[in-house]
Amino acid sequence: MTGRTDNGDVRGGRLTIDLDAIVANWRDLDRRSRPGRAAAVVKADAYGLGVDRVVPALASAGCDSFFVALPQEGAAIRPLVPEARISLLNGVHAGAMDETIKARLIPVLSSMEQAALWAAQGGGRPCAIQVDTGMNRLGLTVDETCALAGDDALRAKLDVVHVMSHFACADMPDHPLNRQQIESFQAVAAMLEGVESSLANSAGILTGGAYGHAMTRPGIALYGGEAVTGIANPMQPVVTLKARILQIRSAASGETVSYGATHRLGRDSRIAIASVGYADGYPRAGSGSGIPLRDAITEGLAGYLGGHRAPVLGRVTMDLTCFDVTDVPDDALAEGWIELIGPNMPLDDVARACGTIGYEILTSLGTRYARHYRGGGKA
Ligand SMILES: *Cc1c(COP(=O)(O)O)cnc(C)c1O
Repeated sequence: MTGRTDNGDVRGGRLTIDLDAIVANWRDLDRRSRPGRAAAVVKADAYGLGVDRVVPALASAGCDSFFVALPQEGAAIRPLVPEARISLLNGVHAGAMDETIKARLIPVLSSMEQAALWAAQGGGRPCAIQVDTGMNRLGLTVDETCALAGDDALRAKLDVVHVMSHFACADMPDHPLNRQQIESFQAVAAMLEGVESSLANSAGILTGGAYGHAMTRPGIALYGGEAVTGIANPMQPVVTLKARILQIRSAASGETVSYGATHRLGRDSRIAIASVGYADGYPRAGSGSGIPLRDAITEGLAGYLGGHRAPVLGRVTMDLTCFDVTDVPDDALAEGWIELIGPNMPLDDVARACGTIGYEILTSLGTRYARHYRGGGKA
């Protein structure tokens, strides 16, 4: 957002976000959603990549429906897309009525209480309904949805324009819960005749398209993340992250590195100290040693210089991380920057090294990086 983008070279890290890749990914997902169409999930500041740039780029490509979690997120993007449909996945509550109405946001109603509130105070404005078909997160039960569908008095006060459900296990295509949710939602959607429906998130689209529904709700795949485990990721990568190297030091075999002295060097080494740390969202859980996760997953994070791998040594600290560059040739070091996410180190490899998922790495990307946007019809 404002103040986060600058072209100055004073920062410790450079984050490059490829808007053309996001648009290409949306077009790909939109094609896979046919005869339905793809909306775009842009909650949490477009998964950390900046709604102010991502939303206009997607709107120019033809995306006319956006999902966010919270009213303030919807209000922030309303001026960017005056005509688009903006839906609130986290629904509405009494304190959020004014903001929701003012910004013409569509609450996704997930309980009978929310339905009653919108019927009483929504002034007949459009709403959506979420049905829980097996995740036990948000949503009306199937029985409640049946009751609502048959309640003419309530229906008269609710302009239901969308009905949706959400997969619990779409990233695991063979999980039996998928079939159960598909069938359960099919039956519920049929009761709300004429109401547009959506089921698939990114993983759902990659494994089964729109499942016969009018719309899909991709998030992570737009941003280049891996949606389905165990298949090659067909999406274009979007994010490149590099950190400035502040110093290269030599240390002797037997010496230790970083807090807690948890890494003891097994050889005479060269260590690059990079200007990035957990305060930037480069997770401490990705440390090379000295954290509980390393007992389960032995490999920690690594950076790359000129295609040469440089593993993290010891603990990631708040503003600094140590990388083993002993095997990196001098000319590769001379550039002065180390790739943390990019062609050699995909987002999801970073996530795996930290025991997490690409979603969490993206939504944790820090505010101290210089942000550069590529493409998207703007500089
Ligand atoms: C976040 C979210 C999505 C998008 O999911 P991805 O896995 O990022 O594609 C879709 N629908 C709902 C209800 C969500 O909460």
